[in-house]
Amino acid sequence: MQDPTDSVELAGRSVGNSYRLVKPIGQGATGTVWQGVDSATDEPVAVKLLHESLLRQPRLVTRFVQERTILLMLRHRNVVRVRDLFSVGETLGLVMDLVAGGSLRDHLERERTLPPAEATRLAAQVADALAEAHELGIIHRDLKPDNILVLERDGRLETRLTDFGIARILNVPSMTTPNAVVGTPHYMAPEAFHGVTPSPATDVYALGVLLYELVSGQPPYLSDSVPELMRLHAEGRPHRRRGIPEELWKLIRACLHAKPRQRPAAPALVRDLRLLTRKLDGVPALPPPPPPQLPPADPDDMAVDPPELRDGIRFPRPGRHAVPSARKPRNAAPVHRFLRSSAVVAVLAGVLLATGIATSLWSRDGGEPRLQPHVAAMSSAPRPAAVSRPRPRKKATSPSATVRAKRTGRPHRTRSPQPEGQAYGPWQCAQGFVIDLSTRSPLVPRPCHSVGRDVRFQASLTAPAGGRADIEVTLRDADTGRTVAGPATCAGLTFSRGAMTKACGPADAAPRRGRSYTVVMAYRYERDGTSSSNTARGRVFTW
Ligand code: ADP
Ligand code: MG
Repeated sequence: MQDPTDSVELAGRSVGNSYRLVKPIGQGATGTVWQGVDSATDEPVAVKLLHESLLRQPRLVTRFVQERTILLMLRHRNVVRVRDLFSVGETLGLVMDLVAGGSLRDHLERERTLPPAEATRLAAQVADALAEAHELGIIHRDLKPDNILVLERDGRLETRLTDFGIARILNVPSMTTPNAVVGTPHYMAPEAFHGVTPSPATDVYALGVLLYELVSGQPPYLSDSVPELMRLHAEGRPHRRRGIPEELWKLIRACLHAKPRQRPAAPALVRDLRLLTRKLDGVPALPPPPPPQLPPADPDDMAVDPPELRDGIRFPRPGRHAVPSARKPRNAAPVHRFLRSSAVVAVLAGVLLATGIATSLWSRDGGEPRLQPHVAAMSSAPRPAAVSRPRPRKKATSPSATVRAKRTGRPHRTRSPQPEGQAYGPWQCAQGFVIDLSTRSPLVPRPCHSVGRDVRFQASLTAPAGGRADIEVTLRDADTGRTVAGPATCAGLTFSRGAMTKACGPADAAPRRGRSYTVVMAYRYERDGTSSSNTARGRVFTW
């Protein structure tokens, strides 16, 4: 399950024509994002490396390649510029401009609320990027503060829209093959919950949520239950916090209209937002919102069908700490691990040809079409050092007995001995919400850990639509990506109305002290003869 694209061992390596990888700076659904340098020009770049395991999943490769296609189509000041796509060993890398200021999520976490004029100024930039995309028939579909990068120019913040990985190009069916639409449901328009084909108005709705959040410090609808959130979005009665100026409120309401047709189009929004930016100059930021009242996590609830999950899917508000894996569950799991590399390359070649961009893929400046020779070379050449698997380190723990117990197919509810009384702290869980497009099912993956005398880890999956799943949970070193314990494996979990949530684990581990770890769950979900695979990562913690 180790993915070499995560590994710090890649640091300092050269990839593509002339890119030197410096350090990993972000984890994405399809790959790890590295800070790098273009050795030819010494310019800083960002390099997204496709997780090697995902090459076995044509849809995800398509998604990765499609992102580059879309970004190439979209040349806009407020959209991250793509520079190159290259092959590295058996995988792919996407080279972009490095946007140095982090994400709008980071900014909002620091500031808590923005003055209305600053919120409208930034939202106008995002709306302008969307207007351009919509004009080209591209819908972003995953607009949220995490996917808006920021940088400082002349003492002011500027935005760069990114992550067109699940964007949809209207009227081009072959380009709409993401494995799952994910996000937190906080940004999803009412129609999106029902699987309606996304339209530009879906993005406008998300922009309305974003604007509300920038001004008031949290999204308009807060609930940790998905059915409840769906209801709130459908009802469309956002609470107006005191201090939100009337005209701004009108605009937010218009974007959040339950009927897509009633929402303003992006170009009109740009005009209105710019106008408001001038009008609202000097209006102070609202006070930060009170912390959300969320039910405390009960560690014992995690083992099997937690009671709080029986009535619906529950999860906390968006934000780095609450839902760190909000977009992570789109990661695909390397479930079919025994595919031979030639098969992988064949799949890759097929996908690239199908997306119609094969001819310029491998050469930096769109030189001669060279796909076939490269594919042949990729299948026969030994794997270059850049993506060679790091030497397996001696496992710091050997929970083999525990782990083997998890292979029985039933969640195992072992308790570790607790000689010191309170041997473990509460379970810390990350939770994402996924609408799996293959099976058209909502899913909530939930990787958890608890620290104490040693480390315990487990994961659960909530599938209200029924179906079956296999889950595999590992504990990994957060910096190197190395598996330090597990996998704990649970096969053939069956979901039903009375048992929407199934857990796998817990397993115990005693990894090296003083390092950061994260729980990674891979799951394969199957319903009505269709299946899909994903991974979800837990919160990073230090032990
Ligand atoms: P995903 O498709 O999985 O959501 P993103 O494109 O959102 O991936 O990238 C994941 C993270 O990597 C971002 O949240 C950001 O922190 C970082 N990142 C992505 N692109 C860049 C970039 N061009 N410059 C700087 N950081 C980036
Ligand atoms: Mg993203």
